[in-house]
Amino acid sequence: MTAPLPDDRQSAAEVAAPVVALTEVGRSYGKGPQRVQALTGVTASVAAGELVAVVGPSGSGKSTLLNLIGTLDKPTSGQVVVDGQRMDLLDDRGLSALRAHRIGFVFQQFHLAASVRAVDNVADGLLYTGMSRRRRRDRAAAALHRVGLGSRLHHRPHELSGGERQRVAIARAVVGDPALLLADEPTGALDTRSGALVVDLLRELNASGTTVLVITHDTQLAASLPRRLVMRDGRLVEDAGPATATTATRPAQEHA
Ligand code: ADP
Repeated sequence: MTAPLPDDRQSAAEVAAPVVALTEVGRSYGKGPQRVQALTGVTASVAAGELVAVVGPSGSGKSTLLNLIGTLDKPTSGQVVVDGQRMDLLDDRGLSALRAHRIGFVFQQFHLAASVRAVDNVADGLLYTGMSRRRRRDRAAAALHRVGLGSRLHHRPHELSGGERQRVAIARAVVGDPALLLADEPTGALDTRSGALVVDLLRELNASGTTVLVITHDTQLAASLPRRLVMRDGRLVEDAGPATATTATRPAQEHA
């Protein structure tokens, strides 16, 4: 007799397990009259496999939010859970491990090491995995092929176009197969065509299972994504999507 299959509810719960869960998250900077409340009462969750845009005017708290989700920063109030782990219960080592193994980052300005070949820039994304240098380079080469740069393995950043540099940065971010890819304005420094290629790549990565959160000023790009978190004055003011039959644009959860 074959073992019973898990029932549908169980599978659905597994599929919907949040990769990110934020509860009443706040972040302030400074003290006294200099104090800036960058985030206030943000509650939201992102399920595995989602592709989410974070949008809002400059200064609305988007980068602060992404830095908290990426465990680069800590909230001053509320709770952040990433990949099932409560950030407030992790020590620095635990946070570094979570970052190194489960989260990939992409920034507007690429942040590649100058004069280091593409393959080594990408291999650096595996530095904390304990893999041998040779294996790291093999994996890096495969990641560069995956982003369409198989013929640029030995190019240095200054020998690559902006769009190619960003694709190297994306290869570095995903070479360790993270659960979550965080991208802060990844197309902000690119021309339209290169930006479109980068967006296509983010979609492909998402289609193959990576959960992606992307900050963007590009309204067309944001509108084309299945879900948008809209920030204003440090608050989440709208949570639009995901675009399924049962969900429509809805206001963000209200909290006192
Ligand atoms: P966005 O990414 O939407 O442009 P940010 O998250 O960068 O917004 O910033 C939100 C607010 O927090 C802004 O008013 C900004 O000036 C302030 N802020 C961000 N980082 C710091 C910091 N390190 N020290 C003080 N204020 C900060």
